[in-house]
Amino acid sequence: MQNLTVLGTGVLGSQIIFQAAYSGKDVVAYDVSEEALEKLPARWEYLKPLYLRDLPDATPEKLDAAVARIRPTADLADALADADLVIEAVPERLDIKQQTWERVGELAPERTIFATNSSTLLPSDIAPFSGRPEKFLALHFANEVWAKNTGEVMGHEGTSPEAFEAVAQFAEEIGMVPIRIHREQPGYVLNSLLVPFLGAAAKLLVRGVASPADIDRTWKIATGAPAGPFEIYDIVGMMTPYQLNKDSADPEMRAFAELVKTEYIDQGKLGKGAGRGFYDY
Ligand code: NAD
Repeated sequence: MQNLTVLGTGVLGSQIIFQAAYSGKDVVAYDVSEEALEKLPARWEYLKPLYLRDLPDATPEKLDAAVARIRPTADLADALADADLVIEAVPERLDIKQQTWERVGELAPERTIFATNSSTLLPSDIAPFSGRPEKFLALHFANEVWAKNTGEVMGHEGTSPEAFEAVAQFAEEIGMVPIRIHREQPGYVLNSLLVPFLGAAAKLLVRGVASPADIDRTWKIATGAPAGPFEIYDIVGMMTPYQLNKDSADPEMRAFAELVKTEYIDQGKLGKGAGRGFYDY
């Protein structure tokens, strides 16, 4: 599949667009927001040094060639006219996904395969809106797609094996390591492991068992992992654990959210991006 259309040019959409173009695909970048589309050149300038830093084969010429393969548009029919594959990265709200996929299902050519990058919704939640559930599945990227290059491929019961394999193959062609998920699983593989792991670390802290640094140290020394849970919290940023846990049914997770708010968010310690979080950077 050579022609990719990405819906939504935010944090993840812009990374998927750039990575696919860098890998030689022709990419149409669609967003409802003209403002988001106007920000794209700045997004490419932000990503280029990161590619040069992280990928040994990246050169300024290759990065410029990638930008030249990207065509932004705010016209959905135009965006879909020649799409082999659509990857959707619009906000994580079922109503927005529904509206988007209903329109895409009407406008896209018959051959086009549909993939969502949704982190928390299942393909079976969204597929019915698309009008072609047999060609609908998830291709889930991790933030910083060029370096953290897993591509979790997950269908629902009605996804055809051909569509599944075509997307797995496409993921590989754009430099991802395709992870074939054999049945629907909320959180895919990565978040099914990561969320309980981060929760366990939060509980050790709330119970006063050990300091964040010692919890991280234990994990890193004993397993050889490059980062501990509190270093991961700093990369994710404090707002996400706060939002996810502030109304938790688990009192210890609510206490963690409260600690994150008073000790970190209220003091501007928002995580690695802000220069301060559980650690100073
Ligand atoms: P974002 O808010 O940064 O970007 C969303 C973009 O979609 C914005 O540019 C917005 O203008 C645009 N948009 C809004 N409504 C639209 C519509 N109807 N049609 C087209 N574009 C529309 O969000 P994000 O963090 O990039 O997340 C997008 C998706 O990717 C979500 O489903 C999320 O779960 C998933 N995801 C995010 C991450 C992450 O780390 N941020 C990681 C993996 C997956």
